[in-house]
Amino acid sequence: MQDIQMLIGGAMRAAANGATFARRNPLDQSVATRAPAATPEDAVAAVEAAAQAFPAWAALGPGERRALLMRAAKALEARAEDFTAAMAAETGASAIWAGFNVHLAAGMLLEAAALTTQIAGEVIPSDVPGSLAMAVRQPAGVVLGIAPWNAPVILAVRAIATPLACGNTVVLKGSELCPATHGLIIEALQEAGLPPGVVNFVTNAPADAGAVVEAMVAHPALRRVNFTGSTRVGRLIAQTCAKYLKPVVLELGGKAPMVILDDADLDAAVAAAAFGAFANSGQICMSTERIVVDEAVADAFVARFAAKARSLPLGDPRQGPVVLGSVVDLATVERCNALIDDALAQGATLVCGGKADSTLMPATVLDHVTPSMRIFREESFAPVKAVVRVKGVEAAIATANDNEFGLSSAVFGRDIARAWQVAARIEAGICHINGPTVHDEAQMPFGGMKHSGYGRFGGKAGIDAFTELRWVTVQTAPRHYPF
Ligand code: NAD
Repeated sequence: MQDIQMLIGGAMRAAANGATFARRNPLDQSVATRAPAATPEDAVAAVEAAAQAFPAWAALGPGERRALLMRAAKALEARAEDFTAAMAAETGASAIWAGFNVHLAAGMLLEAAALTTQIAGEVIPSDVPGSLAMAVRQPAGVVLGIAPWNAPVILAVRAIATPLACGNTVVLKGSELCPATHGLIIEALQEAGLPPGVVNFVTNAPADAGAVVEAMVAHPALRRVNFTGSTRVGRLIAQTCAKYLKPVVLELGGKAPMVILDDADLDAAVAAAAFGAFANSGQICMSTERIVVDEAVADAFVARFAAKARSLPLGDPRQGPVVLGSVVDLATVERCNALIDDALAQGATLVCGGKADSTLMPATVLDHVTPSMRIFREESFAPVKAVVRVKGVEAAIATANDNEFGLSSAVFGRDIARAWQVAARIEAGICHINGPTVHDEAQMPFGGMKHSGYGRFGGKAGIDAFTELRWVTVQTAPRHYPF
């Protein structure tokens, strides 16, 4: 069991009233972590510490910010084993997933380091004689990042790395489900030598999330919010941000379709579907959730996909290497068992896996899923996947788009021009032709449409999100006025 603390203004801190909450291991219910249960006053103190640190951090040259972010990437990688242990204890994640998290998150810090010299403006022709008019990007102020548990290192680093590169100071609100994992990121940033108050870390008991978040959003020094999590909570955060007129980037749920056209390379499609569907037991926002397959190749695809799914090792990640570890909680198991019952009652067929009675959920494939079944629309966020058979390209596109979400998607087909036409019509922020729905790189514009949210992380899109674009002029010649 680990006891962790918050970081406010460079000091490790308990909650002012001493309150704590426990995160239990999903498999054996042992206490994995005890963390401070911040009050709204603690959260405000974190925003104030960030506000105090802001002027000096914003004024620091890009070279110094870059060096600190590069050191943070190294310090993060040096903790790879600690991350693996913390993720297995708090969320049941496999070592493969933990390793990938640390690797990509370190890459995000390096990419953010590189962005420090890419925060460019422009000179815009003015109609006023002698007016030198510029669009200038400046740091926005204090940024609040709220990250979930499922890709804990990647998503918490993403919430703060580009904001820091742009000269903002940050408060990370950790997930109640993985406070120690998120705390390790903060440790790495501190070791890198970020000045006190530049990064602050707040943890809260689940019941206090709304109050703690609102106290921070309401603070006048807080200028930007980013939230990665469910669509349900994203809507609440958007309402809070609207109340205080704070811009927010929302990265929410998904129900990624993978379209397999009649000319697809089925070996490539099976490999991508298995990776996209079952990495981290399907608990990724980009997870392949609906496999939309042309009926001409459906039998062959399903047979090979099921064989691959059955072969994936499942077990307690603390005991040895597995592909499928534990899912995050029993609520996930219950939700998916209900989805399976509903689909089977309406005529779907179970190809492999099935209902689970513990958080060790097997890779499960339901074939002949139709739009009236709950699993066609609802995020399983688990290794329970739907195969939907369609006839022809138009039906495939219509089926892929028949959903409230629009984060990631994929199209498989050998005729690349046709696959491109399909990709162009899929309503999702991300689409990969002949690649898996699960794919993230620090420099790419990452984000969704429809109920998957708005705004983009990644590369230059991240600079747009976390800077203030200002119009500044210099009058270089006498100016004429009408009176
Ligand atoms: P969640 O929405 O339940 O929780 C995320 C965060 O919201 C936590 O930090 C929690 O404290 C906070 N929260 C909860 N109630 C709140 C309230 N009333 N006010 C303010 N904050 C509150 O999400 P989760 O279950 O931890 O994560 C899984 C979800 O995240 C899935 O839907 C998944 O698709 C989505 N996700 C999206 C992306 C993306 O990039 N689009 C990435 C990963 C996960």
